[in-house]
Amino acid sequence: MFEYAPAPESVRPQIKEHYGLFIDGEFVDGQADFKSVDPSTEESLFTVAEAGEADVAKAVAAARRAHETVWGPMSGAERGKYLFRIARLLQERAREFAVAESLDNGKPIKETRDFDVPTAAQHFFYHAGWADKLAYAGLGPDPRPLGVVGQVIPWNFPLLMLAWKIAPALACGNTVVLKPAETTPLTALMFAELCQEADLPPGVVNILPGAGATGAALVDAAVDKVAFTGSTAVGRAIAKAVAGSKKKVTLELGGKAANIVFDDAAIDQAVEGIVNGIFFNQGHVCCAGSRLLVQESVAGEVLERLKARVATLRVGDPLDKNTDIGAINSAEQLERITALAKAGEEEGADAWQPACDLPERGFWFRPTVFTGVQQSMRIAQEEIFGPVLSVLTFRTPDEAIAKANNTPYGLSAGVWTEKGSKILWAAERLRAGVVWANTFNQFDAASPFGGLKESGYGREGGRQGLEAYLDV
Ligand code: NAD
Repeated sequence: MFEYAPAPESVRPQIKEHYGLFIDGEFVDGQADFKSVDPSTEESLFTVAEAGEADVAKAVAAARRAHETVWGPMSGAERGKYLFRIARLLQERAREFAVAESLDNGKPIKETRDFDVPTAAQHFFYHAGWADKLAYAGLGPDPRPLGVVGQVIPWNFPLLMLAWKIAPALACGNTVVLKPAETTPLTALMFAELCQEADLPPGVVNILPGAGATGAALVDAAVDKVAFTGSTAVGRAIAKAVAGSKKKVTLELGGKAANIVFDDAAIDQAVEGIVNGIFFNQGHVCCAGSRLLVQESVAGEVLERLKARVATLRVGDPLDKNTDIGAINSAEQLERITALAKAGEEEGADAWQPACDLPERGFWFRPTVFTGVQQSMRIAQEEIFGPVLSVLTFRTPDEAIAKANNTPYGLSAGVWTEKGSKILWAAERLRAGVVWANTFNQFDAASPFGGLKESGYGREGGRQGLEAYLDV
């Protein structure tokens, strides 16, 4: 056997023992501290300050000052320089951010290295380019910033969701107060250090770690806009909290996407897309293809090839670059996945899992494929947010569309067929913000992303995403 030399990801980034709140360009104490654990080992990684109501008020006041005195009056070209600088610094420190994200979140290094961090940098590059061209975005001759934006993000793509939120807000001349998710604050705090390194004026970006109460306090604070990504339940609470105020809101919520495989699809290609659709990021993806709708005439063949492929997935150490499926982000999320999978079995669906060893410590769930799924079952209706696929079949294209649309959500969908006309026919009828054809889970800063129905409203990315941060 060969001994492998240490890989770059074997070198741990310098994680501090303790992080404070980032307010007005400095790290300060909060009202209490909490721990962040490595979900693949359950070991404590660092402690972090939790922001209370008074901290939220301070951060919002700092953001207001920065908006009125520096960031708002600054020319778009100058703002763009800062965004370019942030993008370049993210690229320079890409490996460090990738390892830190894998440690704090549990996702595989190949994903943080090849997707999360480069895509986060791309969002800053893309929006840096817009900063001095807002008058040409088709949103009026002189679109103005909104002011101070309160942003709350989930744990599934901590750095990338931060970039989706902060890059367009800053490009449009707003200042921000962002609350990362309670289980994954690390890369947001490293990003705060990076803002210092970039000499970003104090108060333009403020980062407030904390749990739901901190998020709720931020929503209630004197901000001009709330941008939220997370569950539909919390999105609903936020919509209620801001109703009647002048605050603008965008909500990026959950999903239960259908990945539709027609009988004329290239099967091997579709199988790769199904695997990517549901097992990418442990299935902790709002737009995950969690419902496979496969045409009955090819269902047997698709399932056989799918199981053979899933059996090759490697589950384990997130820092091993051969790992395909890492750890579940938290004990709480593991409990939720386990409970929904159990409900699937109790309601009569058949669960299949490949034989694979799981590490003894940490939070893990084997990739799971449910067949014999009925539309009324919880596993066909509710977002599981884990590596669990529910398979349903259909006979006609109309039936596929009816089943695909039969959920309260409307975030994304996939279509696999060799016929272009069928793609267009299906895309017209699918009630989803994004429809991928013969691919899945493709993202680009230039492409707007967002939902219909209970998946939320507002778009992030592209020219359309700018509108959410401008008074037009
Ligand atoms: P969550 O709604 O529980 O938490 C999201 C964030 O909201 C966290 O930072 C949390 O601390 C905060 N929060 C909780 N209660 C709050 C309150 N009352 N007021 C303000 N903030 C509050 O969701 P989660 O479990 O962290 O993330 C998973 C969910 O996010 C899934 O439903 C997923 O589909 C969704 N998601 C959507 C998108 C999208 O773009 N549509 C992207 C990623 C994740």
